[in-house]
Amino acid sequence: MNLRLKLLLIFVAASLSALTFFGYIAYDTAKVASIKNETALLSSFARRIADDSSRDLVAGSSWSVPLVSDGDEETGNRIFLIITDQNGSAVNLPDNSDFKNAYEILRQFVPNAKSGQSGSFVSGDKTYMWASEAAQLQGFRATFLTSRHVSSANSFFREMGVTLIFGGFVLLWFASWGAMYIAGLFERLDEQKNILRHRALHDALTGLPNRALLNDRMRQIIQVAERTPAQAALCFIDLNRFKEVNDSLGHAVGDELLLEISRRLKGHLRKSDTVARIGGDEFALILRNVDDATAMAVLEKLVQEIEAPVELRQEKLFVSGSVGVALFPADGDSVESLMQRADVAMYAAKRSGSRIAFYSSDLEVFSRDKLALTHDLRDAIAGSQLELHYQPKYHIGEKRVIGAEALLRWSHPIHGPIPPPTFIQIAEHAGLIRGLTKWVLQRAFSDWSRFARQGRKLNLSVNLSAHNLQDPELESTLYELLSQCGIGAQEVTLELTESAVVQNLSQTKQLLVRLHERGFRISVDDFGTGYSTLTNLRRLPISEIKIDRSFVSNMKHDPEDASIVRATIELGKALGIDVVAEGVETQEVLDQLDSFGCRSIQGYFISKPMPLGIFENWLGTSTPAGTVSQPVENLAG
Ligand code: C2E
Ligand code: CA
Ligand code: CA
Repeated sequence: MNLRLKLLLIFVAASLSALTFFGYIAYDTAKVASIKNETALLSSFARRIADDSSRDLVAGSSWSVPLVSDGDEETGNRIFLIITDQNGSAVNLPDNSDFKNAYEILRQFVPNAKSGQSGSFVSGDKTYMWASEAAQLQGFRATFLTSRHVSSANSFFREMGVTLIFGGFVLLWFASWGAMYIAGLFERLDEQKNILRHRALHDALTGLPNRALLNDRMRQIIQVAERTPAQAALCFIDLNRFKEVNDSLGHAVGDELLLEISRRLKGHLRKSDTVARIGGDEFALILRNVDDATAMAVLEKLVQEIEAPVELRQEKLFVSGSVGVALFPADGDSVESLMQRADVAMYAAKRSGSRIAFYSSDLEVFSRDKLALTHDLRDAIAGSQLELHYQPKYHIGEKRVIGAEALLRWSHPIHGPIPPPTFIQIAEHAGLIRGLTKWVLQRAFSDWSRFARQGRKLNLSVNLSAHNLQDPELESTLYELLSQCGIGAQEVTLELTESAVVQNLSQTKQLLVRLHERGFRISVDDFGTGYSTLTNLRRLPISEIKIDRSFVSNMKHDPEDASIVRATIELGKALGIDVVAEGVETQEVLDQLDSFGCRSIQGYFISKPMPLGIFENWLGTSTPAGTVSQPVENLAG
């Protein structure tokens, strides 16, 4: 029974009880008052009749006849006058059954009435009222007796009065409405409270538990384990390349993708396990009663599930997940430490490219406090911790170095080298990317102006982040630095990732057109990992495509990757766009690329990125591909 109905019933019951109770009191009061009045009347009659009747009786007349009634025989209130002698016997009883009954009842209930007495009693369904008075002569006594029906419901209602009943019902009606209204109010409040409670503990998009509920569940497991030892695994899952989907295909598609992933995760877990969404593209799991081997088996399946293509709006999307695992109780016995360690492990999985990582203390290098790093990065830009390394771009056909890509390095005074994707992401989040990019451009342009003075003709590639494209000062900074360093825009290639290009396409297009008109070459980096379409490519002033190294390095083992590489090379030829294959690590791959008609390559096989001085030396000693690989690999690490 819901609250509304319960309250209504309570109100109705209370109103009815009140109505009955007060009605009864009113009725009772009225009844007592009327009985009192009537017996008083009878007493006054009795006094006079007693003397008259005794005088007549002594004179020989007969008495004791029922008095004329004031109503009809059935319902009327007849008044009986009974004259008794000194023995208490009725004198001259008339031959009338009603009178005899009345006499019997009187004898039964009032066996010895005294002079001047009166009263009432109840017999059967009637209330009897009597009044008795002694005559002055020879001990005669006159008693009046009359009756009323009492116990019938009729009389109750009659006495209560229609007004009272009507009033009662009106009251009841109002009470019911009031009750319904208040009950409705309570119910709504209750619903609202439930919704709020649910919202506080669940993620709005997926309906999965949120971080707060996850913490709570983990805390419960830890508490229970104090009594009965148990094992559990806390796993953090971070989706890779989700941001690209969001940026290039829009948030609606991103949301659908997240929903699909959350469905897959839920579908593959036991009821006792928990899956939560704890951030944009971050999920967390609690696997109960598992050891590391079982956890690994479950997670491997889950990762496969995540990696299966998601078909949304006629697009096949590929995402993958990096999973970090902390085991309870081995890796921590508090929620906080387990969370922190699962995060460290997840971060390590992401960095190392392995899909699943279990926490171990040597992964702690990955758990650098990002806030502290942000602060340190600010210092690094201002100070001397940043350095540019250059990785050569090599022309297979001409067998010569045609350019180099500037890649930023940050050697942290305590933590040592920090991977560029890590600190670039921090810079983007902390609003430091403009300063960082300016630093790179300044350094690279001035290095190149020195090369130019030495007579070297090499093209310089620099990487721009998607955030740089939103920066209104980017163009002026570029032009200023070019003129400061005295190099031409046509010597510079600006590398932009595929997703950065398609993000905010119309605005980006105008910017790219202006930059292209100034002479810059525009290159689409990590090609194949984003979601740019051919139409986009054709509409933009693109000079170069760099095939992502994941396809290139996998070509030997995966014919599908090989055909993607080949198709991209063909596409480049068809559109008149240079194609660079990244991540070439072996002669075999180089040969295959050559056979596909690829002209330009970059990769460890030619050389790893090198500090400027070493790069200059290397340029001086470099010989055709294959022979340079050995010494160069030792140069850069
Ligand atoms: P990217 O632009 O795709 O750079 C190529 C990355 O692949 C470099 O990693 C390079 O060292 C690595 N690489 C090159 N050849 C091979 C190979 O044969 N095998 C393997 N396994 N790797 C190879 P790095 O230097 O760690 O940079 C990573 C990413 O960080 C870059 O990817 C780029 O997106 C970003 N980045 C680096 N420097 C800058 C910068 O100055 N500005 C911006 N916005 N991003 C930068
Ligand atoms: Ca690049
Ligand atoms: Ca790349």
